[in-house]
Order: sequence, then C-alpha cells, then structure tokens
Amino acid sequence: MSREVYLDYQSAKPVDPRVVEAMLPYFTERFGNPASLHTVGDRATAALEESRAGVAAFIGAQPDEVIFTSGATESNNLAMIGFANRAKREGAHVIISEVEHISLHNIGKFLEKSGFRVTKVPPDQFGRIDPDKIRSRVTDDTVLVSVGWASNEIGTIQPIPRIAEMLHGTGVALHVDAVAAEGLLPIDMSAVPVDLLSLSSNDIYGPPGVGALYVRKGVRLAAVTIGGGQENGLRSGTENLPGIVGMAAAAGISADELSQESARLAKMRDRLIAAVLSTIPDSHLNGHPTERLPNNAHFRFDGIEGESLLLSMKDKGIAVSTGSACSSKTLEPSHTLISCGLLHQEAHGSLEFTFGRFSEDADVDRVMEVLPDIVARLRRMSPLYETR
Ligand code: PMP
Repeated sequence: MSREVYLDYQSAKPVDPRVVEAMLPYFTERFGNPASLHTVGDRATAALEESRAGVAAFIGAQPDEVIFTSGATESNNLAMIGFANRAKREGAHVIISEVEHISLHNIGKFLEKSGFRVTKVPPDQFGRIDPDKIRSRVTDDTVLVSVGWASNEIGTIQPIPRIAEMLHGTGVALHVDAVAAEGLLPIDMSAVPVDLLSLSSNDIYGPPGVGALYVRKGVRLAAVTIGGGQENGLRSGTENLPGIVGMAAAAGISADELSQESARLAKMRDRLIAAVLSTIPDSHLNGHPTERLPNNAHFRFDGIEGESLLLSMKDKGIAVSTGSACSSKTLEPSHTLISCGLLHQEAHGSLEFTFGRFSEDADVDRVMEVLPDIVARLRRMSPLYETR
C-alpha cells in the first residue's frame, strides 16, 4: 500500500507543529480575556498585542493597522461591506475582478441588493487583470476596487503593485484578497499602496478559523459585527487568543522561510507541469505560464471530467481538487475558468494540484506513475474523446 499523497494545499493546510506548540499554553495556563482588568487579562492583552505586531511585521504594516477576524471570508465582508457602507454618500459604485473568490462574488451580489452598482472586470485568457481595464471602468462615483493578489484556483498572479499605484491618490480605495498569495509571495504594505488586505491564518499553516484584515491608517470602515467594541470597534466579540497567537507564530515562520520554500515548491510545480504536458496527449495548462503561484499546477484534459479524474486519483491515495473547495458542492463549472474563455466541458475537465510545506519530490513521481494511465482509461470510456 503506497502512502497517501496530499496535493490540495489550497483547500486546507495542516497546522505546523511549531505553531501548535506556540498555541497550547493559551488554551490552559495562559487563558484570559484581553478585556479583563486583572493580571490574567493584562497577560492576555500583552499576547494579543504581541501577535498583532507579529502579523503586522509579516506584511510590512503597523500593528494598529491589523484587525483580527474569524478568517478570510469575514475579512472580505468587513473590507467590502464596511468600506462601501461608510463611503455610500461619496459614491455607490464598486469594481471587482471576475476571477475573485466566491465570497467576493457573493458580497458583490449583496452590495447590489443594498443599492450599489457592481462592475466586474474580465481577465485575459490566462486569468490576468489588465490595470487599464480597471481604469476604464472607474467613474465619478466609484469608491472601491477589489482584486485578489492571486487566484486560489488557477494560481495566476495579478499585477497588484501596478493596480495600487494606478489607484493611489485618486480617492478610489483598493481591497486585495491576499489569501492565495500569502506565504508564497512577498507582501509589503510599506511598499505597495493597498488600502485593505485580507489574510487567513490556515493559508500560512496556522489554525483555521482565524484571519486578519489590514486597514491602512486613515482608511475608515463601518463595523459589520456589532457588540462590545473589540478590535478598535471594527470586529466585536471576545478575541480567539489561542488562534491569534497561532496565526502570529505561523506568520513568523512563513516570513523566515518564504523565499527558500517558494523556490522549492516552484521546482516541484515545474517538474509536474513539464511531465504532464510532455507525457499526456491533449493536456493543457490553465492559468498563466509564468505569472503563477509557485505551488500551483492546474491542467485540463480533453474529453474527460475532472471529477472522474479526482475520484480515480482518490482511489490511488492521491488528494487533488477540481477547483475551489468553497464551491465544490455546486455542479456549475468554475467561474474563473469560464471567465478565462474556457468552454463548459473544458472547465469540467480541469484538475488542480497545489503543493505545500510537507510536499516532496516523491509526490510528483507518484502522480506521474498513475495519472497517464487514469487519463487513458477514462478517455477509452469517454464518448467526448472518441468523437473528436
Ligand atoms: N479568499 C480566498 C482566495 C480563498 O481561497 C478562501 C478560502 N480559503 C477565502 C477567501 C475564504 O477563506 P475562509 O473560508 O477561511 O473564510
């Protein structure tokens, strides 16, 4: 029996054992509510603020620019709805890219129901958003633009520094969902004028259920979660201290290891891409050939369903994905692939591999041992492939 191979790091990551170790005391002897005025509370406040400084350092920000949340979905909600509601009198137009995470698409729908106009910017065939296409859609009442740093599905990296420079000083704020890029690409808010940036803890091998929103000094939001006024009034609710300590520990490790780790992952990614494209006929790479996340390889195989492929890989002990785990329960093809111009059957014939901290070269070997045969077998049964 061969070992299990996990190549779906985009859906979930194991918490790094060093992070677990950092968190453990905060469940027991270092428990405490940062709002309490006694010594136990003071210690909790110190841990909370130290963690805030750690996460801020990870993205080149100031500690008071970091708001802890329950994850990236909440960060996206606070950024978009919090900003739009506060800015409504200045304008009611929001721009998002077509290749955003489903949370942002659904937030866009919610804003439309709340009286905002939402314009979507299409990508090119590789999933890249051209800054000029954003510029051409900005109107007098545009208040906010949202573009993710990279696609969690096809791995395409967006030209965020150029988009940020273009919007800087125009009165239009920029929100960036950095979840797919964090820990893989350097992110420095002291160098790139982004106004709001969403982060998730699990995507840097921290605990799930924790996240953060970077809010540049001077950018004002209306609270979305109303309560006791924690997190500078922007995110009420007692802080998840063990989780927050874990996120900061994960950020520290990630910052130390980022460049070495990204180079290691890129080598495995490139080896898999070269092997698949040269060994399996009628296979194609989705996303950008060079501007892509170091851990992402996303293919389509003519004439077969990604889901049948995924299940056949599962039988061999290999975990991969057909796209975003957040929309895997719908039968709809990926909105990202459709936006890149793929036909429905092409989008359905796609498979995503994402490498991570515990991936090894042997994982690529194992995929290449089984994938060509699986593709050939499924094609023999596929009327779509025979009729080509
Ligand atoms: N944005 C992106 C790019 C994501 O990939 C995800 C899912 N990991 C989210 C937002 C939502 O994150 P969560 O489910 O942790 O709230």
